[in-house]
Amino acid sequence: MLTMEINKMLCKNCEIEINNTARTCPKCGMDSLRQFELWPVGAAILSLIGCGQIYNGQIGKGIIFIFSMLIFLQLSPALAGLLWIYSIYDAYKTAKELKVILI
Ligand SMILES: [Zn+2]
Repeated sequence: MLTMEINKMLCKNCEIEINNTARTCPKCGMDSLRQFELWPVGAAILSLIGCGQIYNGQIGKGIIFIFSMLIFLQLSPALAGLLWIYSIYDAYKTAKELKVILI
């Protein structure tokens, strides 16, 4: 079981099992060494302090979220709270879906 986990991994693009010594996926050709997954829970935790989107590489979006929240806080704390919850959800969802490929 452990040996299998060491020798096999899932292609993060098409999710078939490939040998981890294979540099490219035989099915989709994705370079397995150049992709890694983001940690969705980590993104959600970071978005508690408004940094989830930045972790996901969406720096512009993160800044917009932070500024919108600061503005909304003056107008309506409830609205700011809703936006805050949405930004946590957004960071989690994005991190889950995002396939990061290093160039
Ligand atoms: Zn593949």
